Amino acid sequence: MTHSITRRKFIKTGISLSAASFIPGTKKIIPPEKDRSRPVVISSRNGLRATEKAMKMISEGSDSLDAVITGVNIIEDDPEDISVGYGGLPNEDGVVELDSSVMHGPTHNAGAVAGLRNIKNPSKVAKLVMERTAHALLVGEGALRFAKSHGFKEENLLTDRSRKIWLKRKEMLSDSDFWLPSASEKIDPDLRAALDSHGTINCCALDAKGDLAGVTTTSGFFFKIPGRVGDSPIIGAGLYVDNDIGAAGSTGLGEANILTCGSNAVVEFMRKGHSPEEACIKTLVRISEKAKLWPRYLDENGHPAFDLNFYAINKKGEYGAASLWKGRRFAVHNGKENILRECAFLYKKERPVSAFSSGLYV
Ligand code: ASP
Repeated sequence: MTHSITRRKFIKTGISLSAASFIPGTKKIIPPEKDRSRPVVISSRNGLRATEKAMKMISEGSDSLDAVITGVNIIEDDPEDISVGYGGLPNEDGVVELDSSVMHGPTHNAGAVAGLRNIKNPSKVAKLVMERTAHALLVGEGALRFAKSHGFKEENLLTDRSRKIWLKRKEMLSDSDFWLPSASEKIDPDLRAALDSHGTINCCALDAKGDLAGVTTTSGFFFKIPGRVGDSPIIGAGLYVDNDIGAAGSTGLGEANILTCGSNAVVEFMRKGHSPEEACIKTLVRISEKAKLWPRYLDENGHPAFDLNFYAINKKGEYGAASLWKGRRFAVHNGKENILRECAFLYKKERPVSAFSSGLYV
């Protein structure tokens, strides 16, 4: 074998990154006096430009849903963000398939698309599903035809960079097929970065009137089976808004979230009086319990071997976010400053971020 990195060796590298100490327990990160404002916009850690834009629009009187969608469109359009929209990482066939949902508090309405190809702003299409159909979710070919009938132009979403990452992954996937990595090559830095990060952007907002809205958009898991749909377009999993209570969204392992209706659970915990941060933590505790029934998703200590993060705002303008593992961050614009803050967490252990490098694909 002349190749410098075999599939097995590569995955071992990923696992060894997670061999630090483990201390269970929740941690309150945000000082209480700082975690309330109105309006407020919250997002996943890749959403600082989205929170900035959305806050500007809300301050100028825009509807909170229009504001968060315009915010995430910046990231969808950016070829450098390989987790959403244009330049998002493709499925195992090298085709980019996008998922997105939107939910509007004042009308308690939602729209979503899944497995959408060739359209770089699935969040805009999701909003049209909400407004211009009597359905809540369109998928695949039907979603594409719907988008085209509203004038969206098809384009190739695979950039040279995402194609290269896909090809490297394909070449190192197996020692028993006909795809060979370049003999000279060490691990490609772009591939390493792709496997060590996960994507998706969620953005939720509360405007000055007290109306809530949210959007989640993603290219889903890199190298997914074509047709795989994650949590992002599933109302109640990747996003949920109840205008009387609050809004919540998620990033991370979609399958775990779908199986537990995570964002709906966060909103329900807020309904019971928990703060947004507590509600996120309580949902993650519930998911950790359920994960004990999913052996392929557990690490050597019986804890979830994946990443999952929730972001939430309540009607009062309190906000918070929590992750299974320490070290994750979220973006928030509270009307005064637009910053990244640390998420609260369940497990105090430095884990690699992605599902790939946490061993799920062994
Ligand atoms: N939640 C996304 C999905 O499962 C992926 C991610 O956030 O990394 O498609």
